[in-house]
Amino acid sequence: MKLSNMHLKTLREVPNEAEIASHILLLRTGMIRKLVSGVYGFMPLGWRSVRKIEEIVRQEMDAKGAQEIHMSAVQPAELWMESGRWFKYGPELWRLKDRNGREFCLGPTHEEIFTDIVRSDVNSYRQLPLNLYQIQTKYRDEARPRFGLMRSREFVMKDAYSFDRTFKDLDKSYDDMYDAYEKVFTRCGLNFRPVEADTGAIGGSNSHEFTALSEVGESEIAYCEKCNMAATTEKAACVDAPASNEKELPLEEVHTPGTKTIEEVADFLKLDKTQTLKALLFVTYDDDGKEKGYVAAFIRGDRELNRTKLVNALNIPEHAIEFADEAKMAAVTGCVGGFTGPVGLHDCKIVVDSEIPGLRNLCAGACKADYHMKNVNYGRDYNADIVADIKLLKVGDPCPVCGAPVKHARGIEVGQVFKLGTKYSESMGAYYKDENQKDQLIVMGCYGIGVTRTLAAIVEQHHDENGIIWPMSVAPYHVIITLVNPEDEVQSKVADDMYQKLLKAGIEVLLDDRKERPGVKFKDADLLGIPIRITVGRGAASGQIEYKRRSETEKEEISAAEAIARAI
Ligand code: ATP
Ligand code: MG
Ligand code: MG
Ligand code: MG
Repeated sequence: MKLSNMHLKTLREVPNEAEIASHILLLRTGMIRKLVSGVYGFMPLGWRSVRKIEEIVRQEMDAKGAQEIHMSAVQPAELWMESGRWFKYGPELWRLKDRNGREFCLGPTHEEIFTDIVRSDVNSYRQLPLNLYQIQTKYRDEARPRFGLMRSREFVMKDAYSFDRTFKDLDKSYDDMYDAYEKVFTRCGLNFRPVEADTGAIGGSNSHEFTALSEVGESEIAYCEKCNMAATTEKAACVDAPASNEKELPLEEVHTPGTKTIEEVADFLKLDKTQTLKALLFVTYDDDGKEKGYVAAFIRGDRELNRTKLVNALNIPEHAIEFADEAKMAAVTGCVGGFTGPVGLHDCKIVVDSEIPGLRNLCAGACKADYHMKNVNYGRDYNADIVADIKLLKVGDPCPVCGAPVKHARGIEVGQVFKLGTKYSESMGAYYKDENQKDQLIVMGCYGIGVTRTLAAIVEQHHDENGIIWPMSVAPYHVIITLVNPEDEVQSKVADDMYQKLLKAGIEVLLDDRKERPGVKFKDADLLGIPIRITVGRGAASGQIEYKRRSETEKEEISAAEAIARAI
């Protein structure tokens, strides 16, 4: 491609809205283009790199026997109602109606769609295992889209879904995907770490996140150098809470007028200052036993709450916290209780996933404005099915596996793998017939890679003050030939000759033949980060060109023939 023909607009200035290197550089190189907050388009160079990442993903998925399909981003609400997620997913789900009022969403993920395909197409155990995937546009109406492609509202994701006969077979599918992910991110040139993770709103049992290490990443991971434990801080903290000798006290309703913050309520209720923050989740049910809504309540903690962490730790939809906000018991502001909705205490159920020792005499909102319940106890006052201890593992805390002090690192979540088990096959009725013609639930896994976020993560890890330094595997082009003076016949001829030869050899090459000052061309070549730079200038007369790798500082004067041989 000749730059004089290419649709390319680079920026000298740092765009106002961009704070981190990848966002700044992707905008400055003109690779991406913002449409509205969290929605980006890709210009020729940007799209080429996206397609390179997609191709790496595709090859590694295909190598594991996964089969590519392509489903629509538009999904009917009915399927989401079947799985129960239509009401659980909350405001991140981008909902829409057609002209007849029928409800849809733009898929943030595709579990329902893939489960639906398999429940209708798969009958026999002979058709399993099966792994279907797609590389497709996803929509999430993120509360705070930021950092360009890193957290956008429209993004490209590879999502795969595995279908197995047994949990043991699922282990194999999961390990295959884990292996494929290691290969993908290695080929993309990322310095990454797989870490144990919570299953969040997707549900299921086991999960790993693939985290590209970076100071600007939004994921915090705890790791141990001694035993190799590595997990998100939330996950790492899911060790047993210390047992308590406290006795259950009688349930008490307390009027707490005007209290808003966690501190105020804690003081009012004279709660023990050393108590760790616990979060309770109330689920309300309608007459048919369907989940109707969520309310979260908290007792005082020793650290600031963060909405995402809470949602992850509790395995609840973001919606739950939103609901709590409305009810003036916002986790985000540290508010403790006082739900004002129409739900009575006895319509609520606290869902707790295991009886954690030491959780006694909690404080919760009393489902009434400015009232709290003191001494709430599982089992006695509520049916307890899920509760999470969200005390996070801090730097220096003992590793839950070996006891050595843990360290922290930050990173960008570029992919995640989940063992879903039978969560979706159960709610949506996906069965296969076994050897004895008996119906069995299909066992599922799901596996996501943020393709466009991976692009940003690569830039985050591969740049300097002058621009991007693309790893060869994902570079939009391999070689850039800078023709210093297009008016000079010899230079033009040498450059064009090299360009043609490289093209013939199948090298992806750019020829900067623009009528720009040499300084502008050099700056752009550095900014764009094409791995090999060939400069054709005065030396051309004596058959010499300048050869330089973007990742190195040294330049070499070599012959055009030699440069071609090296680039090939
Ligand atoms: P996060 O914790 O960053 O919100 P997630 O855990 O919600 O991500 P998953 O549901 O695991 O995301 O989706 C699979 C992959 O899709 C993620 O690992 C990430 O790489 C990518 N992804 C998720 N949300 C976004 C987004 N808003 N913008 C770009 N990529 C995203
Ligand atoms: Mg998310
Ligand atoms: Mg996540
Ligand atoms: Mg995730």
